[in-house]
Amino acid sequence: MPELPEIRAHAERLTAEFGGQPLERFRTLSFTALKTVSPSPDDAHGHELRAVGQRGKHLLLDFDVVTFVVHLMQGGRLKPDDKQAAKPRNGQARWVFADGPALLLTEAGTERKAGVWVVEGDPEGQAPIEGIGPDADTVDEATLATLLGEHPMRLHGFLRDQHHVAGLGRLLANEICHRARLSPFASTGKLSTEEVGRLHAAIGACVEEGLDYERGLTEMSMSADRPANVHHRAGQPCPVCGDLVRAVEYSAYTVSYCPTCQTGGKVLADNTTSKFLK
Ligand SMILES: [Zn+2]
Repeated sequence: MPELPEIRAHAERLTAEFGGQPLERFRTLSFTALKTVSPSPDDAHGHELRAVGQRGKHLLLDFDVVTFVVHLMQGGRLKPDDKQAAKPRNGQARWVFADGPALLLTEAGTERKAGVWVVEGDPEGQAPIEGIGPDADTVDEATLATLLGEHPMRLHGFLRDQHHVAGLGRLLANEICHRARLSPFASTGKLSTEEVGRLHAAIGACVEEGLDYERGLTEMSMSADRPANVHHRAGQPCPVCGDLVRAVEYSAYTVSYCPTCQTGGKVLADNTTSKFLK
């Protein structure tokens, strides 16, 4: 799933390409695409796209009178649409601009979770932004310490939960724990001040590196192509210490870590790791 760096860099690309263009029309191509009833997306017709912003894992298409909040989820993509085919493959919704170009929201797969919310005024406090925490890279160290203390749980789960800090997913959660030299299963309520400091620095560094990588591309990267030290690298040597990267697999995601860097050499219980080590 695209995470904060991918979404922010993509928002910047879309602003550069489509900013200032008046919207001719917005049309859904799937009955599941539009998640709101009011206000009407037609309210944006004739208005210029001021900018495309990013909040958490959402793109915000700001037309002044209304904002389209787009969540790509796992398989969604928002791309320039030169063909404007009547029935584009995986098409969910389309924004056609007066000068001819268009933006197309597609979603691969059958999940149909990507969507568009139309909101009036500040999107903060309104679905789907409502209730999500601050963007992870905007949180200062003291606030992070407070958030960690308020939500006692495993660190990896804390980082992925959008209600605590927003924008991080599976890849960044793995990479941030590794960078901070903290176990993904460390208890958030028991981290020392020094450990919180390392975690805060790791969040900043990992997001910044992701942004640097993503800004060098012409379109959003695929997860498998993003640089990583531990994510999806189980069985390979840790670039920092040379120990083998290990994995703990869950049905929806995989926790990857380096025992030497993160758990004092302890290999965490997992019934599937052995397949990487045969
Ligand atoms: Zn290591």
